[in-house]
Amino acid sequence: MIKIENLTYQYKEGNIGLSNINLEFLDNEITMIIGPNGSGKSTLLSCIANLSKYKGLITLNGEDIKKIKNIDFRRKMGIVFQNPNNQVIFNKVYDDIKFTLDNLKMDKVDERIKKSLKLVGMIKHINSNPYNLSMGERQRIALASVLSTEKEFLLLDEVTSMVDYNGKQDIYQLITNLKKQKMGIIMTTNIVDELIFADRVIILDDNHQIKGIYPKKEIFMNLDLLKGFYIPFKFRVINKIGYEKLKDFSDEELMKYVS
Ligand code: ADP
Ligand code: MG
Repeated sequence: MIKIENLTYQYKEGNIGLSNINLEFLDNEITMIIGPNGSGKSTLLSCIANLSKYKGLITLNGEDIKKIKNIDFRRKMGIVFQNPNNQVIFNKVYDDIKFTLDNLKMDKVDERIKKSLKLVGMIKHINSNPYNLSMGERQRIALASVLSTEKEFLLLDEVTSMVDYNGKQDIYQLITNLKKQKMGIIMTTNIVDELIFADRVIILDDNHQIKGIYPKKEIFMNLDLLKGFYIPFKFRVINKIGYEKLKDFSDEELMKYVS
């Protein structure tokens, strides 16, 4: 579990990145974070990944993340960014994931590389040059790198935004499976349709604060909560079906129905 108390982040230039954030994240849950550009989505993920010098307290299972040994922390907490090009370094997929594992001083490197590539459906590209792959495929390599150690939480910062339709579907399938394996997923997005994969939705506002935290079904019940965002047609359909009926749908059924 991640707990965030009184988190504030100010950039050197004086820009406020985040202001007084209080939040909790459970393992085994997909939380989606939406908000206008500049509302603080990326800043929030970089604080949780301990990549930014924030004010406030962030704990992982009760332990201050600043006090957890860096290597132990990075074994448990993974972050993937929007642009896959910035996340692949080597000209062979195998070497790229090996680099991550070597950095984290992990054993069973060969086994882990193969396992993580299978997980993202990229085993056939184990010897490929990442630069010859599509953006979606490259993003899956970035995901494989992160997933090559057993993560407790996976932080995804608009990871689908540069990926085509099929690539997006693969990523949705992957996060849904990871959740079943009890991984906590915290994902920012600009694509309102993606909220369908969330258990919980956090909306950030222009003041870099939390506007609201809602179970997904509450969003569908009350589309006014998405005021200011483009509301997909299928959300209006779900809204029309009505909450009483919606309750009877499992997440899987709901997903099948709308995607
Ligand atoms: P989002 O990911 O929601 O678009 P960000 O977390 O990137 O928002 O940005 C939050 C705020 O912090 C914005 O006002 C932005 O201008 C500011 N900010 C983001 N990155 C930097 C940076 N590297 N230097 C200065 N200010 C920044
Ligand atoms: Mg961002």
